[in-house]
This record gives sequence, C-alpha cells and structure tokens, in this order.
Amino acid sequence: MKLYSTNNKDLRVSFKEAVFNSMPQDKGLYMPVDIPQIDADFIENIHQYSLPEIAYRIASTLLKDEIPAQDLKTLVEDAINFEAPAVKLDDNTFVLELFHGPSLAFKDFGARFMSRVMAYFLKDGEQLLDVLVATSGDTGGAVALGFLGVPNTRVTILYPEGKVSPIQELQLTTNGKNIRAIEIKGTFDDCQALVKQAFADEELNAKFRLTSANSINISRLIPQTFYYFNTYAQLKKQGFKEVVFSVPSGNFGNIGAGLLACKLGLPVKQFIAATNVNDTVPRFLETGVYETRPSTQTFSNAMDVGAPSNWIRIMDLFAGDVQNLKKLVTSYRFTDDETLAGIEEIDSKYDYVACPHTAIAYLAIEKFRAENPQDKSAAVFLSTAHACKFPDIFPENIAAKIEIPEQVKALETLPKYADKLGADFKGFKSYLMDKA
Ligand SMILES: *Cc1c(COP(=O)(O)O)cnc(C)c1O
Repeated sequence: MKLYSTNNKDLRVSFKEAVFNSMPQDKGLYMPVDIPQIDADFIENIHQYSLPEIAYRIASTLLKDEIPAQDLKTLVEDAINFEAPAVKLDDNTFVLELFHGPSLAFKDFGARFMSRVMAYFLKDGEQLLDVLVATSGDTGGAVALGFLGVPNTRVTILYPEGKVSPIQELQLTTNGKNIRAIEIKGTFDDCQALVKQAFADEELNAKFRLTSANSINISRLIPQTFYYFNTYAQLKKQGFKEVVFSVPSGNFGNIGAGLLACKLGLPVKQFIAATNVNDTVPRFLETGVYETRPSTQTFSNAMDVGAPSNWIRIMDLFAGDVQNLKKLVTSYRFTDDETLAGIEEIDSKYDYVACPHTAIAYLAIEKFRAENPQDKSAAVFLSTAHACKFPDIFPENIAAKIEIPEQVKALETLPKYADKLGADFKGFKSYLMDKA
C-alpha cells in the first residue's frame, strides 16, 4: 500500500511511514494511491463471514504486503475482539451499535487497530513511542484503553478539568501502566494547543519519539470501514439488498470510512451526514461555500467541530466533484432541543436509550425517509457511544433505564490518578522533560 498527500499527489510513502508521521509535512492528509476492489464473490457471500474475517479481508486487500498475512490476521483478531450488532428496531430500521469495545465508543475500532499496528512496526530495540493526545472525552478513553499494556509505547492524555463526564474521567485516570493522564486547567482547545506546541518543539522531538493518535491517522480510518461491510453482511442475511447509513459526524472520519468502504466495492444506496449545529458540511452541501467556524458547545459534544479534519479526504475520494458527492451524501443538522426530542422519541417508539450523538443520526434518517417516502432500503443509524457516557443529558425517566456495563462498574473500584497542570506550554514541557 502506497499513500500520497492530498496536497501532493506525487508524494509516495509506505503505510508504516504514514502511520508514524500521522500527517504529511505539507499538512495534507494521507490517502491510498490505489483503492483496490474487494472481490465481488466475497461481497456476494459476505453474510457467511464473521466480523474479524471480514476485517481481515478488507485490511489485507488494502494493505497488500505491508504486514505478512498471518501477522495481520493475528493483529486484526486482537484489535477487533468485540461485536458490532445491527439491532433491529422495526421492519426496516436498525441501530448499529458501535459501542461494545472497552471505551464504549466507536473510536475503539480505530484506536485498537492503530495501537496494534504501531506496536507491530516498533521492532525490538526501537525507541519508546510517546503518544500525545488531547481529548474532550471520547478519544482519550479509546486511545488509553487501546494502548494499555502495548509494549514499547507510552500515552500521555491531556483533558480539560471539569469538562469530561464521570465515566470518561474514570476511563482516562484509572489505567496506570503505560498511560498517564494530565488534567489541564483550561479548555479542550488549550489541551490541543499544548499538544501541537509539543510536536513543534525541537528539544522535545530530539529527546522523544513523539506521535499523535488523532483521528486523521490513516490507521484509524481503515478499521472503521470494517463495520460498514459487516453491517451489510448482517442485513444481507435478512434479505435486504439496499442500505442507507446515517452517521453522526464531527470530524467526518466515521463517514469518511463509510465512503472509502463504498469505493472499495460496498454497495450503499445513500449516506447521511448528521451533524449538530456545528454544520459546516450541511451548509457546504447546500450553498457550495465551505466556511469553517469556531465550534459551538452542544449535547453531542464529540461532534462539536467547526472545521472537520477529515473533510478533505472525502473531497479527495470524489476528486473534488461536489455534484457526484451530493448524489451519495445528504446532510442534515439538528439543534439541542431537537436532539432531546429525538432521544425521547426513540425511547417512546422503540424503548431504546440512544446517546445524544446517536439521536442525531436517528433524526437524520427519519428526515431522509420523510423526504424520500418511496425509499424502502434498510435504514441504519450508527450509535457511536453508550448512553452511560453522557448521563447529564437525559430526562430522569430515561436516565433511569441506562444500564451501566460491567466494565465500567469495575473501573469505579480503582484508584483515580491524574497529574494537574496549567494551560501554559512551559509547564507542560518541563513536565515532559522531567518525567522522562
Ligand atoms: C468522535 C465521535 C463522533 C464523531 O465522529 P467523527 O469520526 O469525528 O465524525 C460521534 N459520536 C461520538 C460518540 C464520538 O465519540
């Protein structure tokens, strides 16, 4: 597998280089030079395969000989060791539960695969890999639990004081081992600025092998294609031929992976990019003007993104052809009031508790069906996180129905530990230098 930069199509790097660089120096994003087709026979018989089998087939088709077959198989089975069921709500409505991994969010797919790919490439004797990550909640937990105990790696997570939910905080601060958490007196933007400055700092780079684990890493994108294929397999088993996916979107990595799956040969009738009021993409598809804005805080805070970092990948997949893109991608935005109403509607209609991000995907698929009453495809909305991660959003009667998973209850018995720092770079830098 060779990759280019969206800013320089003549550039060629290996998968390994792309994984460790995360981003090309020209600030584009890595994209595969070739997007091979998944064997049509395989798609025809896909309902006979399990998620790890499907995952291996896609990974090996894309990566080619970057990782030898047996190693890749072991790696995929270790990374994707949880289910992604498409739960049937009525005749043709499904919720795709992507929250059965260790951090209870879909980011586990990306983080677990990435951490194992990095560990695989870090041969014995290579310098310890230092992963720096800023989180507003979900990313940190997925990355921490993805790298926990992975040899030759160390993760430093920065999170804003008082701005992550109790369960998210437990996932960040109870790990120990090769994971350290830093509570920053500041906002998520401060955390992100500190990490960015660290990457640009010569002294830190001379001393440490720094890498970022953010959502633009190509090794996070690839494993997110797996569950689109696996969903198609589940629906095919039930006799469906056409599927519409509604994806709650922030940085557009999730839906980007869905579109990549499509280019790899997955038949998808329509994608719906569902956003909260951070609506850069719906506005773009409506007006043709791509205008980023500072983000606004909402109930679906993992989607509070004003400048979606993966959007250029999507434009690249369509070679900049917006008309073509609009045939496959519809986009809708929803307010917090609508989100709450959506949560209540899913509860009363299906007796199902959806997290706020999931509720937005649900609202979008309902809007799509209202606008396209002739469409009888299987309608799948993606559930990107377990409701228990966002306890403050729900009205009491619905909150009471949320079941706390066993793995979270276990965290509650562990000691929490986080170092505390201000938002100034000097303090963060000397922390990193001194604690080496
Ligand atoms: C990260 C996240 C999203 C947004 O996914 P993108 O790939 O950034 O579009 C949606 N929901 C939840 C719960 C998330 O953690």
